[in-house]
Amino acid sequence: MMIHLVVRQLCAFLLALTSYQSVQAANNNFAAKPIRSGDTLIGILAKNGFTGREREVVLSSHAGLRQLFLTLDTKYLVRRDAGETELRVFDSQTAAAFRILKKGGKVSAFPYIPNYKITLERIDGRIHGSILGSILAKIDSNFVASRFTDAYAFDIRSARDLKRGANYWFTVQKKYESGHFIKYGEIMQTSLEIDGRDVRKRFVKNPDGGVFFNSDDLLEKRPLYAPVNYLKIASTFQPNRLHPITGRRQPHLGVDFELPKGEPVLAARKGVVVRYGNNHAAGNYIVLLHSNGMETAYDHLYKIDKKIRQGLKVNAGEKIAEVGCTGYCTRAHLHFAVKTKGRMVDPLNYIKAYPYHMEEQLEARVAKN
Ligand SMILES: [Zn+2]
Repeated sequence: MMIHLVVRQLCAFLLALTSYQSVQAANNNFAAKPIRSGDTLIGILAKNGFTGREREVVLSSHAGLRQLFLTLDTKYLVRRDAGETELRVFDSQTAAAFRILKKGGKVSAFPYIPNYKITLERIDGRIHGSILGSILAKIDSNFVASRFTDAYAFDIRSARDLKRGANYWFTVQKKYESGHFIKYGEIMQTSLEIDGRDVRKRFVKNPDGGVFFNSDDLLEKRPLYAPVNYLKIASTFQPNRLHPITGRRQPHLGVDFELPKGEPVLAARKGVVVRYGNNHAAGNYIVLLHSNGMETAYDHLYKIDKKIRQGLKVNAGEKIAEVGCTGYCTRAHLHFAVKTKGRMVDPLNYIKAYPYHMEEQLEARVAKN
């Protein structure tokens, strides 16, 4: 009896607390729902009571909704008040977000800018097996795990560099909207024990992204600069692999940097345009020849800059095109390849960890410390 009474009082108290909060946060009664395996925007709309016709109206109201990229480590928000349903959906890769409303039999959808509250979480651990697997065991996000490996893409060129049980830690942004966790943001600082040495990186922003940086990166005598402002590696140089579309064994003789369509593509070094155009596999492409005899190739471009023509001289870091998904391509990225002495080589052994225009900024930063 006594216990029942206490429970009942507690319930009444909690109820009062809840309704008090909902008054305080008026119009803010969102619940966060996980993205589940196989979820598409259509599926999410259906789950939340949108009819086939309403789903069509939503999808046709903004082109960005059809390209919305949803991953399992993100959430969406749902609010239901007196005959009104609102969904807020967030693209995993880009800043794109949409509000979808259903009220009195009318539906609408429009982009909006979320007012994220950002916190930093620190994760500590040890490497057992692969880096990716070790981090996924601590934090269930492919994005975060692959960003950590991106930070060390230039440092770890073989599994031998990493000892079993190597210590690591990193800090990662967590983005909240209306009090709910929505998605992870950028990794800001990293530390990893490589060959018994604590190698730390820091994410340094630039206007179109940012790079993981360590002052040792400035000392690297590499002949090329990064061809993009954000180095998220979707696929590495692999002399043997199955092509994702044709299924045939086809070597991947470059590195794929994943970026949203339209992001600038930068010349990796001063050079001259030797070829450009369009073909079946590469889509829109440009090939530059540099004074040291190296050739760099840029594939799947959305737009080739109008100035580009055969024989045109370009400077290091000059914008030559925009990232796209032309040719054999499933998601927007830059396929970047390097040829030297007639041989295709792994670009990550030849490019610096940052684009040309960041060099001064990074030098100034190191000089200050
Ligand atoms: Zn590629």
